[in-house]
Amino acid sequence: MKNITVIGSGTMGNGIAHVFAQNGYQVSLVDVNPAALEKALATIRKNMDRQIQKELISEEDKAKALENLKTYTDLKEGAQNADLLIEAASENFDVKTSIFKQLDEITPPACILATNTSSISITKLAAKTKRAEKVIGMHFMNPVPVMKLVEVIKGYHTSEEVNTTIMEMSKAIGKIPVLVEDYAGFVANRILMPMINEAIYTLFEGVGGVAEIDTVMKLGMAHPMGPLQLADFIGLDVCYSILNVLYEGFGNQKYAPCPLLEKMVIAGDLGMKSGRGFYDYSHGTKELVVAKNFK
Ligand code: NAD
Repeated sequence: MKNITVIGSGTMGNGIAHVFAQNGYQVSLVDVNPAALEKALATIRKNMDRQIQKELISEEDKAKALENLKTYTDLKEGAQNADLLIEAASENFDVKTSIFKQLDEITPPACILATNTSSISITKLAAKTKRAEKVIGMHFMNPVPVMKLVEVIKGYHTSEEVNTTIMEMSKAIGKIPVLVEDYAGFVANRILMPMINEAIYTLFEGVGGVAEIDTVMKLGMAHPMGPLQLADFIGLDVCYSILNVLYEGFGNQKYAPCPLLEKMVIAGDLGMKSGRGFYDYSHGTKELVVAKNFK
């Protein structure tokens, strides 16, 4: 496999493209929004500079990786030569369904169609194509160049050969893959999202403030960042979508998104990517500033 196409150049897409380009693959990065592609390239350059400062890569490695990377706004142009396609567009079933239907027509028949979805059923997306045996989940963690895990999710019809190829491919780019079954939220988000939602409920009910909740979890449970900061980092819209998939998938009230989360998403406070969530990022410093009084 040589040609990798990544669909969606947001938080995750740029990281996935970065890692594959750095490992010598030819990467086509596709996004409907040209501004998102520009932002992705700037982020990749900045993150590579950080790797140079840490002496993880050289200037020459950076130049070579950037040469391996091309951007497209047209799905057909970007996907027609793909050996492996990784979809990392917005966490929305209709968006992903439409992309998968088009990809089934555009990509070569041998191309594996992977999705970076956090929670949407691989089997449901596979059913929209005529190659269910070649559809698989390849769930990277944020930030992709740093985090080692890839949660690999086999759909109902995914072939053993494709499972093995994706496990091997993940190792080839320096990651550690774990193979799991296809149920809502898989393993990672089935456990993580209820914790984040409970933290938001704890804030909503006034049990503690943003700083208090995050400090308890950081110092008390040795988590590297508190659940509210993590929610900002992931994107509150993404958390909201995943919780809704869990809620619908299991039909259990315990997964219902907290009303405060819903309100913040509607208001456009999506976390780091919009400049404000539980914390305010408009100051441009690394110091955490609580966005407002959430009483
Ligand atoms: P994001 O909102 O940062 O980026 C999504 C990108 O997809 C945007 O740039 C948007 O323009 C683009 N897009 C939307 N429709 C498109 C289309 N039809 N064709 C091409 N591009 C399109 O989202 P994200 O946080 O990068 O999440 C992407 C996927 O990765 C989601 O499925 C999400 O659940 C998953 N994920 C996210 C995280 C995280 O921490 N944010 C972690 C793991 C997995």
